Amino acid sequence: MDPILERYHALEKKVSTYIPNLDSQRLYDAFTYADTAHHGQLRKSGEPYIIHPIAVAEIVADLELDMDSVISALLHDCIEDTVATHEEIAKKFNPTVAELVEGVTKLTKMQFVTKEEEQMENLRKMLMAMSRDIRVILIKVCDRLHNMRTMEYQSPRKQREKSLETMEIYAPIAHRLGMQKVKWELEDLSLRYLDPVGYREIEEQLEQRSAVHEEFLASIQRRIQQRLGQEGIHCAIYGRVKHIYSIYRKMYAQSKTLDEIFDLYAFRVIVDDIPECYNVLGCIHDMFKPVLGRFKDYIGTPKPNMYQSLHTTVIGREGLPFEVQIRTWEMHQTAEYGVAAHWKYKQGLANANLGTEGEFEWVRKLLESQQDTDAEEFVATMKVDLFADEVFVFTPNGDVVNLPQGATPIDFAYNIHSAVGNSMVGARVNGRMVPYDTSLKNGDIVEVLTSKAAKGPSRDWLKLCKSNEARNKIRQWFKRERREENIATGRVAFESELKHSKLSLAAVTAEEVLPHILHKVRCNTLDELYASIGYGGTTASKAVARVRDEMLRLGRLQAEKAAKAATDAVIIPGNTAPQDSIPARDAGKHSDSGIIVEGLGNCLVKFAKCCTPVPGDPVVGFITRGYGVSVHRADCPNAHPDNRKPEESDRWVKVSWVESKLPNYKTALELSSKDRDNLTLDVAMALSAAKVKVTALSARSMPDGHAVANIVLEVRDRDELNAVINKLNNIQGVYHVARASGK
Ligand code: MN
Repeated sequence: MDPILERYHALEKKVSTYIPNLDSQRLYDAFTYADTAHHGQLRKSGEPYIIHPIAVAEIVADLELDMDSVISALLHDCIEDTVATHEEIAKKFNPTVAELVEGVTKLTKMQFVTKEEEQMENLRKMLMAMSRDIRVILIKVCDRLHNMRTMEYQSPRKQREKSLETMEIYAPIAHRLGMQKVKWELEDLSLRYLDPVGYREIEEQLEQRSAVHEEFLASIQRRIQQRLGQEGIHCAIYGRVKHIYSIYRKMYAQSKTLDEIFDLYAFRVIVDDIPECYNVLGCIHDMFKPVLGRFKDYIGTPKPNMYQSLHTTVIGREGLPFEVQIRTWEMHQTAEYGVAAHWKYKQGLANANLGTEGEFEWVRKLLESQQDTDAEEFVATMKVDLFADEVFVFTPNGDVVNLPQGATPIDFAYNIHSAVGNSMVGARVNGRMVPYDTSLKNGDIVEVLTSKAAKGPSRDWLKLCKSNEARNKIRQWFKRERREENIATGRVAFESELKHSKLSLAAVTAEEVLPHILHKVRCNTLDELYASIGYGGTTASKAVARVRDEMLRLGRLQAEKAAKAATDAVIIPGNTAPQDSIPARDAGKHSDSGIIVEGLGNCLVKFAKCCTPVPGDPVVGFITRGYGVSVHRADCPNAHPDNRKPEESDRWVKVSWVESKLPNYKTALELSSKDRDNLTLDVAMALSAAKVKVTALSARSMPDGHAVANIVLEVRDRDELNAVINKLNNIQGVYHVARASGK
């Protein structure tokens, strides 16, 4: 017979042993479908490709999974490697099979990079979360097992890569799902490629002494058998040398040779019910000397992966220690096949008092939901979304963050740190700016943009976030801020302090004075100042001291103005060079900057200090690492494509001016001229005639008979600015007027 067909019939036979009324035709259809799809494809071993899906289906059948799983195993590489589609498979078989096949395909595409242990744990969870149906993972693990069994045909590099991934992802998942046997095999196969020398060393030593081992195992087994027979206990006993990776780990961890390894042997006594387990334990402890502190009752307290057994280590007459595991048949099934075993053996679960450690909680949840369901319902609930209520996303560094399903960038930011959330001004997912209500998906890379000038969370965020953590932190922020209350107490303190300084609130808050005062105390509004005093960000006496200074300065200016009486421009003598480039209006109001940042609605915008753009200037934006978007003139040297750092190329974004502009933008000019008397006065006059507001004007003489004047002024747009520049150019002795830029 055709060897492939022969292999298929072996599979069919295996499946029929546990599925009584097997629909052979359906299974055969799946086989022929896969066989046709993979026709002409070869494995690295030179075998026809179809051998692989059949082998995977056989492993699935070893786990005694249901018919849909076996069929899906036969088809599992069809979507990936052939022209088969989800729709076709759904139509030809059923939607469940199509889902399973697609789920396995999705996992196959995932690449894992080695990380620290905590991160690997999250990656494993992410993988499981992406599976939705637990059978997807089970099939995927079987697929990996067969690939590991046939890894010898791969290149050494691929062998290492796959082995590492198996050791770090798939073996722990097999363990998590309680599939002990699969886990051991995966570990041993991986170790073979990860440390071939270490593996061979143990393998050879075990082989050399296999006769000794066999003899020891047989004699102990015989003695236990005999004793339990006398007690009338019906049981099965298996002895074995522990698997290579577990020996390897012990040798490595304890830096011991194989001879020094404490317990190399393990025996398993399997009985019919739980009372018998304890009877057997009594007999064993009577026959051999127990090692203190090595008895573990996993029947009373099962392991979180559902594992149940009694463990004890004893020392035989030969002085050799060995471990004995005592369990019922049902426990044995669970130990070998884990979750998979429960397709068949589910009745014992109701009694199982499973652990509640957070790490394994999902298994407990999974099992809790399984109680009191009949077999069919059980299959249905097995389709649980294992992590339907969780989503796993990456930070830009590749760390995994675990969030509730439907989580938004707000949840992400507060998960990182409350300070990150409180200063968030924007978020990017997979490199794109996104709105705050975006639902994050498994595998998204999320980046939060923060700003020290951020106003903190908005109350809307409470509706947008999904995690209690974020919600609590936002509430905390509001509570801590307690703005109204802070404003009230701050106001009382401020006013009483003013009185002490013989200043009146009316004078300080007069229309023409207040902006200067607020600027001096670095607040945008009076309420903000009050809140800051009330909250303790500053003290009333410090604030009033600044207010008094500013009042004195304004008073002096007033006097100077009166003296000059020539211009209403504000002239600041000395070397008060332009310092900042905050938009003339309220610095903190994001969308009020008059700038639209492409792909981002409401973000913090500031105008670059180097080139102080005004409306009409061609502009570009740069997403800074902490202050929102910085807007440069397109001709600013700092924004020139040649000067952009390649690693920051994706930080440059398109920005444009909004139609309805704001009245004023602050910008800076530099004027060079022949040094002469009254230059400053003429400049001030020209500015006054142009009816623009000047916030700083300083001139200084240069050693060579020139003078340079720095002007900070507010204009509506580029046209107005050009008009001002023209007027300044007409002043006698002026050589050049330029936009300040590129400092
Ligand atoms: Mn495969």
